[in-house]
Amino acid sequence: MPNFCAAPNCTRKSTQSDLAFFRFPRDPARCQKWVENCRKADLEDKTPDQLNKHYRLCAKHFETSMICRTSPYRTVLRDNAIPTIFDLTSHLNNPHSRHRKRIKELSEDEIRTLKQKKIDEISDKSELPTDNSETVENT
Ligand SMILES: [Zn+2]
Repeated sequence: MPNFCAAPNCTRKSTQSDLAFFRFPRDPARCQKWVENCRKADLEDKTPDQLNKHYRLCAKHFETSMICRTSPYRTVLRDNAIPTIFDLTSHLNNPHSRHRKRIKELSEDEIRTLKQKKIDEISDKSELPTDNSETVENT
């Protein structure tokens, strides 16, 4: 199971890179700080225990001074680390922006797929007369 970053406008997964992921702190006060900084409504009604078990933030949301690399394979946060780096510009007061962006990304992909399909179709039907569309228009 890959870890997903819980931060707004962040789509990083643990499978994509060697980026470190950090669990939400179990300490309620610190956990609250993380949630506040994330500004995600769906995190606000979770208990610190739930957040700690199921949610993570990637290393991109922490100042580098908050992160200690104890070995090439292990990265830990300082005890009092708070995530402060978030892309909130398109997130605040505009819950649809993320959705819209996704649709745009999808349609670009779709266009590419469709173009490829058309090329395939054309090469499949290469025996058909090329003026086929004109005949349809005239009827
Ligand atoms: Zn992230």
